[in-house]
Amino acid sequence: MLTLSEYEEGLRSGKLLGLRCASCGGVTCHPMPVCQWCGGRSLERTKLSGAGELTTFTVIRVPSEGFEGEVPYIPCLVKTEEGPCVVGRLDYDAERATQAAQELLGKRVRMSGAYTYKGDKFSGGAHSCPVFEVTE
Ligand SMILES: [Zn+2]
Repeated sequence: MLTLSEYEEGLRSGKLLGLRCASCGGVTCHPMPVCQWCGGRSLERTKLSGAGELTTFTVIRVPSEGFEGEVPYIPCLVKTEEGPCVVGRLDYDAERATQAAQELLGKRVRMSGAYTYKGDKFSGGAHSCPVFEVTE
């Protein structure tokens, strides 16, 4: 069992937590009530390494409502070593990321911390996401 608030608490203390499935051995992250690979319900909390591969990203320059002070920032999708893909932010210069987009895809990354955004009328309050840095 791993609630969303426990997951986010883990992020803020530098840990990427997920769930390991007793049926197929797969890791689910972020937390869900069933295994993302086989639908199994017997899940145990596990700690992921935080390392993975940068699958895709985008540079946000025009803020959505509630994010006016945040641009530019870089949401990214990371395929973790353990299998699941995790959404986070990439800690990288926005201009360099724009110019070197194709070179950055597939690079090794590691979780370097957490980012907490204050929330807007759609999010039901503040939430945290992992922050990744390029390690190669
Ligand atoms: Zn499973």
